[in-house]
Amino acid sequence: MIESVILFLLGSFIGYISPKLPVLMITRAKGFNYHFSHHPEPISLSPYLTQRLLHMRTFYWLGLGFALIPIAAGYASLVWGSAPFGFGMWLSSGWSVINRLQTFIGGTPPPWTYEMAIRLQLVMNKSKQNPCCDFPEPEWQLTAVRCSSCNITLDEMPRPDLGRKRSDGIFAGSIRLLASDGYPIVSEQSEE
Ligand SMILES: [Zn+2]
Repeated sequence: MIESVILFLLGSFIGYISPKLPVLMITRAKGFNYHFSHHPEPISLSPYLTQRLLHMRTFYWLGLGFALIPIAAGYASLVWGSAPFGFGMWLSSGWSVINRLQTFIGGTPPPWTYEMAIRLQLVMNKSKQNPCCDFPEPEWQLTAVRCSSCNITLDEMPRPDLGRKRSDGIFAGSIRLLASDGYPIVSEQSEE
């Protein structure tokens, strides 16, 4: 009985973490973050940042492909191997697939979207054409995009995780990331 429970939990964990692996792993190495300030400092707006946001969006959807591995392995295990292990994998990876697909029927949008990239681009364009002060320096802070020179809020868009190497280390950072799923930790103040 205990063995079945452990196998079920292990299977669930594998199914749970697999779809999140691309976001957790791919961009965390130092070489990928050459153009960015260190986590958790604000990031200056630049084409690199816009590109990073779009990459995070790609990795998020790539997670669906990664979910197919535990779904297939879970099925194989259910048929030929350990039933609790396979059921655990199936249940948790199937759940994350459903969770991501609900975006299309009006659920929560992903933490990284194309619309967000466009909003960043609009702020950059505006700070060139119609600057907020003499030395516009738009940066993405935790709760909004603000100008670091005059501190005016340029876009009330809280910052999601942006794939930088986490300041809290790989282990604690990964746990926090799994808990938040990449969404901003701080919600928009205007919603209060
Ligand atoms: Zn300014």
